[in-house]
Amino acid sequence: MRILITGAAGFLGSHLSDRLLSDGHEVIGMDNFVTGSPDNIAHLADNENFSFYKRDVSNYIFVPGKVDAILHFASPASPNPQSKSGYFNLPIQTMKAGALGTHNCLGLARAQNAKFLLASTSEIYGDPEVHPQPETYAGNVDPVGTRAVYDEAKRFAESLTMAYHRFHNVNTSIVRIFNTYGPRMDLEDGRALPNLLKQALLGEPLTVYGDGAQTRSFCYVDDLVNGIVKLLYSEEHYPVNIGNPTEMSVLQFAQAINKITENKAGITYVDARSARDPQRRRPDITRAHDILQWEPKIEIEEGIRRTIPFFKQKLGLA
Ligand code: UDP
Repeated sequence: MRILITGAAGFLGSHLSDRLLSDGHEVIGMDNFVTGSPDNIAHLADNENFSFYKRDVSNYIFVPGKVDAILHFASPASPNPQSKSGYFNLPIQTMKAGALGTHNCLGLARAQNAKFLLASTSEIYGDPEVHPQPETYAGNVDPVGTRAVYDEAKRFAESLTMAYHRFHNVNTSIVRIFNTYGPRMDLEDGRALPNLLKQALLGEPLTVYGDGAQTRSFCYVDDLVNGIVKLLYSEEHYPVNIGNPTEMSVLQFAQAINKITENKAGITYVDARSARDPQRRRPDITRAHDILQWEPKIEIEEGIRRTIPFFKQKLGLA
């Protein structure tokens, strides 16, 4: 297939590009580098099956030649208010990437009779009142809350995707991505793994927000990419959660990082991020298991070990 990936210079987009190229596809990458980095795709520069367009997907997009599939991964995604690349500081771009960007990609998919896969998120569940979260749970999102620019853009993107499927018969899929980590995460984006692993490798105390009792379920990027590729090849149109169901508190996560890196500086508790920091998050992956025969394989210690070399290199410690 000839596959367009928006957000190709991002953490997930670049791993997806690698995987689809190694599966024998041609990949057209698109990114405006607002949060993605040219470093993430530099190794593809000489790959004759990879081409790249620097574009903002919230404007009209055009790609010469036939396109067989479009994966829409372009969006800021970090919820950290301190981070320049987080969606708090890019609120309008975030809403445009989710709304206008999705519309442009769906229009192209319709014109090209191409498959469309939307990168959605566990954030559409908001601060969930149902635990773990199955795809049938409609979520708990405040439309004017502090995370709304991301959550509501992705919720709109899902609705628009289903509208194009139902009304225009576009072959669409929706993946709801839960917390994912691995090499090529932006060290400065303020999310849990980049912050904590960076601190640990520098021998600093790990900043746990609040009491650290809030939970997350962290998925290693290779597992996530496997699930997404299976969904791409499927005929499933309703949303599918892809994530690792092993739930842990943020404090346990920080302790695991300190143990693996042999960091002796311990943990420092700082103010909770906001009242809207979801307190619990864990995917119910029954649908992914039944429909895609997918489940994650890489445990947290192994995933952190695989991530360390990239962080050391970025920090000049390798
Ligand atoms: N967190 C933390 N210390 C940090 C960064 C994040 O305790 O230095 C917490 C944060 O409050 C949240 C969890 O880790 O409860 C996951 O945050 P992340 O930014 O990775 O993404 P989220 O899951 O909130 O979208």
